[in-house]
Amino acid sequence: MGREKNLEKLKDGNTFDLIIIGGGATGCGVALDAATRGLKVALIEKNDFSEGTSGRSTKLVHGGVRYLEMAVKKLDVVQYNLVKDGLHERGLLLKNARHLSNRISFVTPLYKWFDVPYVFAGLKFYDILSGKQNIGHSRLLSRKQALQRFPGLKSEGLKAGVLYYDGQFHDARMALSLALTAEQHGAVITNHVAVSGLVKENGKVSGAELTDSLSGETWQLKAKGVINATGPFVDQIRLMDKPNASKIITTSTGIHIILDKRFAPPDAGLMIPETEDGRVLFVLPWENHALVGTTDEPAEVTEHPLPLDQEIDYLLRHVTHYFNLQVSQSDVKAVWSGLRPLVSDPKAADTAKLARDHVIEDSEDGLLTIAGGKWTTYRKMALDTVDHALKQFNLTAPKPTCQTEQQPILGSADYNEKGDLDLINKYAFDPDVAAYLNRTYGDQAEKIAELTLEGYAARLAENHPVLEAEVLYAARFELAERVIDVLARRMPIALLDTEAAKQAAPRVLEIMAKELGWDQQRCDDETKWTEQRLTKAL
Ligand SMILES: Cc1cc2nc3c(=O)[nH]c(=O)nc-3n(C[C@H](O)[C@H](O)[C@H](O)COP(=O)(O)OP(=O)(O)OC[C@H]3O[C@@H](n4cnc5c(N)ncnc54)[C@H](O)[C@@H]3O)c2cc1C
Repeated sequence: MGREKNLEKLKDGNTFDLIIIGGGATGCGVALDAATRGLKVALIEKNDFSEGTSGRSTKLVHGGVRYLEMAVKKLDVVQYNLVKDGLHERGLLLKNARHLSNRISFVTPLYKWFDVPYVFAGLKFYDILSGKQNIGHSRLLSRKQALQRFPGLKSEGLKAGVLYYDGQFHDARMALSLALTAEQHGAVITNHVAVSGLVKENGKVSGAELTDSLSGETWQLKAKGVINATGPFVDQIRLMDKPNASKIITTSTGIHIILDKRFAPPDAGLMIPETEDGRVLFVLPWENHALVGTTDEPAEVTEHPLPLDQEIDYLLRHVTHYFNLQVSQSDVKAVWSGLRPLVSDPKAADTAKLARDHVIEDSEDGLLTIAGGKWTTYRKMALDTVDHALKQFNLTAPKPTCQTEQQPILGSADYNEKGDLDLINKYAFDPDVAAYLNRTYGDQAEKIAELTLEGYAARLAENHPVLEAEVLYAARFELAERVIDVLARRMPIALLDTEAAKQAAPRVLEIMAKELGWDQQRCDDETKWTEQRLTKAL
């Protein structure tokens, strides 16, 4: 464990079975699948785990109600199977990452009588499709019941509501936990190391050139197979393999804004079934705040996409339309943007080019690319990818079949939903801190609690349950290498409240500098980088 040790393992000249490029949902999922089958795996992430799209999602574990509508309207079997797979995977994620996920009820407000039977029937069908993995039954709500469930909702013209259930999860900690669980099964994982080139022998991909993004050092790593799981960046890696490769990715951005908790009760989300551009929009309770998203605007591939004013206005316009509460830009506590990778299947006929499922592509020289899908189906994507890689690269795995269906994610195995009470009794934490630590770290929470006894018990920001001890833990055990790794991904504060994150940043820097032995130059660089991320784009 620890970055230096991991880097040593990547430099000792050994050949790995697989190099997996990209530490988002896809890459971390593939690393866990391959490592639990007993393969020798290296997971390489250029920035931080889930610093790309995977840390900026709506944080829903879902089959996709909108996809189901399209499946039915167009009698589309592919779409239908995607929803079915999504609902199956939803059940597994809620079981295997119990501390990081929860069931959530949604109110769908209906303002036209005509919509009531249509939406109700659709959501009932959604329940039926989840089969054994059903997590609750949809039902009709009277106007009064809908307003009781979601008090901020605009009452004027409201006819009824439909209640249904889906899952919610903490995406950034999920990716990290997948990577750390893979590490427990022998994978060598590293963040802040980029694949800067591919290595070939006799015309076949036989490894990768790695560049440490922090030190600039470059070296080569050999492997029997290389998997490109870089989301919106897959074409960049494909170009390293074949300079004239045609693109398979187009991108659009989706932003989210965070509002005060007044906009979402703690136990219910709102699903707005049709936005002005014909999509669905969600308002969700998240970490004692309200999360609103998302948008869909064409965009270029970039590492830290900038949320645009027009996107923020779009979300606020919908909130104004559906709520009795006044809202303006000054109510927005944080905003972030993620890139949606839309994949076209290079093998599909022209008419069906846009893939709705994930795509696995083998290049002539043996680079395997996996792209598309969604967070909810990361495990299924990983399974398909590793099955494919075993054949493609002639690998023999000690356990040839997928092991992840029953694999608890780090923190989940002995998670106790009521563990916060033990933390309060033993460490005298405030109830909000105990509840946060318990659901964030699961059965590892006590390790953070122990660190508070070393003089790191203070909160990092007023009105937020995040503690100094978490910074120490993140730097010591969770491969946090930058201040923003802690503020945006080990804990959710930068995604919830930009001002609070700015206030917390100097203390986070101080603790990390001491723990990781940073000199003044590194501290100055970190201050600049953190400021940029918190003022421009996360
Ligand atoms: C706005 C939005 C909301 C969404 N909401 C949901 C949701 O609620 N539920 C759901 O199921 N799905 C959701 N999705 C979809 C889901 O987030 C994505 O499908 C998923 O996160 C993609 O993961 P990925 O690993 O393929 O890509 P990424 O998360 O982008 O990971 C790719 C990684 O590769 C790294 N990388 C790039 N180049 C290199 C290199 N040269 N060397 C090393 N590493 C490299 C990047 O730094 C990045 O971390 C949403 C998507 C968007 C855009």
